[in-house]
Amino acid sequence: MYVILLGAPGAGKGTQADTLVRELELVHVASGDLFRQALGQGTELGLKAKSYMEKGMLVPDEVTIQMVLERLSAPDCESGVILDGFPRNLNQAEALDKALAEQGKAIDRVVYIKVSEDELVRRLSGRWICRDCQMPYHATDSPPRVWGKCDKCGGELYQRADDIPETVKERLGVYFAETAPLIDYYTRTGKLLEVEGKGGAAKVGSRILSALGEGR
Ligand code: AMP
Repeated sequence: MYVILLGAPGAGKGTQADTLVRELELVHVASGDLFRQALGQGTELGLKAKSYMEKGMLVPDEVTIQMVLERLSAPDCESGVILDGFPRNLNQAEALDKALAEQGKAIDRVVYIKVSEDELVRRLSGRWICRDCQMPYHATDSPPRVWGKCDKCGGELYQRADDIPETVKERLGVYFAETAPLIDYYTRTGKLLEVEGKGGAAKVGSRILSALGEGR
């Protein structure tokens, strides 16, 4: 099963991907995490992505598409993947469709998590992430049991540099200009499932599972 999680930064894609990984046994492929990993390791890919990420801009397609397609060709992705943060524009969506078609595969479902702009800004500015396992938290909505420590792995929590207000504004601008048109693209293919992103993570998670036909 190939599922795309579509939504603005702050819509809850990372949190919901975690639920889907658990419930549906899919592998989580998050383009932003791949870039942050490369950045942390100081690789050439990380250096290429750095300045774009700091400004909240999209990393050029030729770099991003190659990185994600390479990840998708790994053996652990064979039986199913949840894509988070990719594709982020039409060119990436078409490249993904083409690459999958060449392997006789296709995207099954695209889950669009709908959240208002005010709520996105509120969520991003309160967001904390585990440095080790990338588990997201929110200062007031979903705080960790012990402040500063990940419930899941005990890792240190940090605020992403691109969650500062000016960069958040830029990232949302990029989302509405470049990524939001994908809602139409996947509606036309009949694959889009729109899910209301309001309410707690557990509520949104069960909406997604029932939209995917796995609700219980
Ligand atoms: P995210 O963690 O998904 O919010 O991504 C963090 C940053 O990584 C973005 O602001 C972009 O600079 C870069 N990035 C992640 N995914 C993509 C993508 N599909 N295309 C281009 N840039 C991306």
